[in-house]
Amino acid sequence: MYYPEPISKLIDSFMKLPGIGPKTAARLAFFVLTMKEDTVLSFAKALVDAKRNLSYCSVCGHITDVDPCQICSDKQRDITTICVVQDPKDVIAMEKMRDYHGLYHVLHGAISPMDGIGPEDINVASLITRLQDERVQELILATNPTIEGEATAMYISRLVKPSGIKTTRIAHGLPVGGDLEYADEVTLSKALEGRREL
Ligand SMILES: [Zn+2]
Repeated sequence: MYYPEPISKLIDSFMKLPGIGPKTAARLAFFVLTMKEDTVLSFAKALVDAKRNLSYCSVCGHITDVDPCQICSDKQRDITTICVVQDPKDVIAMEKMRDYHGLYHVLHGAISPMDGIGPEDINVASLITRLQDERVQELILATNPTIEGEATAMYISRLVKPSGIKTTRIAHGLPVGGDLEYADEVTLSKALEGRREL
């Protein structure tokens, strides 16, 4: 099918997004043509600003526009507990629940030997450094209930054991094979409440 170059470029750009196929991309691209110019400009600016102004917190690995992030520098948070998650989106899910007041550590992935992802490929080393702070008492392993997530939780638990810090795993009840970020707030809250010691 023939498109003028600017629109085919726009379609190609939309197709770079996850879950967007050629049909949806074309629909979005044609929709952009109907939008007001200043709306399109502020949309483009939001894309660029998000990319330019956000980076990862040097302490916990969460996305942030200030370093350390707002959670790490919040004096009200319970610094004795660190919740370990795979993805920044999991932090957002946990925060929406409002039941958790400790700190986080974002791994940016999970151990997956099948995909050649080992412990050195995820954000584990900085977690171990953080645990040298004697105030930390509990590590909640809230990796996804998938094979990779379980393997990662076991790995970290074994690594941390000699330090005497308690490691707990969030309860099942989360859909097996699912992602933490898709769990509803009640399910997530129950999973957190029912966590067991490893
Ligand atoms: Zn942080």
